[in-house]
Amino acid sequence: MKHLLDIESADVGFLLKVLNTSEIFLKVLDQPSKKLPTLKGKTILFMFLEPSTRTQISFELAAKRLSADTVNFSPGKSSMQKGETLLDTILNLNSMELDAVIVRSPSPGTPHFIAKHINASVINAGDGAHEHPTQALLDAFTVKQKLGKLENLKILIVGDILHSRVARSNLFLWKKFGSEVLFSGPPTLVPEEFSRLGAKIVELDDYLDKVDVIMVLRIQKERMEASYIPSIREYREFWGITSERLKRIPERTLILHPGPVNWGVEMDWEVMRRENTMILDQVRNGVAVRMAVLYHLLVKAEE
Ligand code: ASP
Repeated sequence: MKHLLDIESADVGFLLKVLNTSEIFLKVLDQPSKKLPTLKGKTILFMFLEPSTRTQISFELAAKRLSADTVNFSPGKSSMQKGETLLDTILNLNSMELDAVIVRSPSPGTPHFIAKHINASVINAGDGAHEHPTQALLDAFTVKQKLGKLENLKILIVGDILHSRVARSNLFLWKKFGSEVLFSGPPTLVPEEFSRLGAKIVELDDYLDKVDVIMVLRIQKERMEASYIPSIREYREFWGITSERLKRIPERTLILHPGPVNWGVEMDWEVMRRENTMILDQVRNGVAVRMAVLYHLLVKAEE
């Protein structure tokens, strides 16, 4: 594979190779010297057209740990402010001999568009409500690290499914690995069409003790054009992982959240104090997983 644009079209063999290699890179990150020469001489451009904390820093660390040269494109300071189109910007950037472009955009399909016009490998770091492939990979890696497998699991994803690229990427990924995905949330935010894609839509309270993983999503106010929920208070009462609900979730069940968390809305702070809440493990593993993605796209693909 040259690009990582989405999980839906990704080859399952490639995804498994990335997960296996991530284990090796995670060990490297534990060493006093965390740097490898793997991407020496390669140049990676970061094109983040939408805010990001974890994903951007994680990708930057991954690139630097592998000795790549990194450059940042800041839309606010670029010629896009002078009216240059995205296509024109890309054609110009293409002349600068880049090896990879990592793209985050509010518009679905932007990484796919860029990939058509550039020689470099393109990695989707989240495109609107479409996909966020490296998030799903780091989620899978975290689950495998704890539960030892990827198949025959029940993964319950709760919350704002409609606007969630994390939910879509996870749905495609877990189905490829032979696990079951269940969705729960307000009917306005859990579209029926997802059941056609293979997710089972369920009542949260019926499944708290029947799944291996509960993945909680953020309410994405920035993508809501209308009022999808009656009130934050009601959302918390019906779909939040509150202290009361926590008592009904078995200790062995993993709780994940891609971040950033709206504490007190989709999740109470108490969830953080539990051993099998994996939020910070996800962030830590993200660097190793992104190192593995860069390695397989920029080194292995060329061999
Ligand atoms: N950080 C994730 C994303 O960029 C999830 C979120 O923003 O809620 O999609």
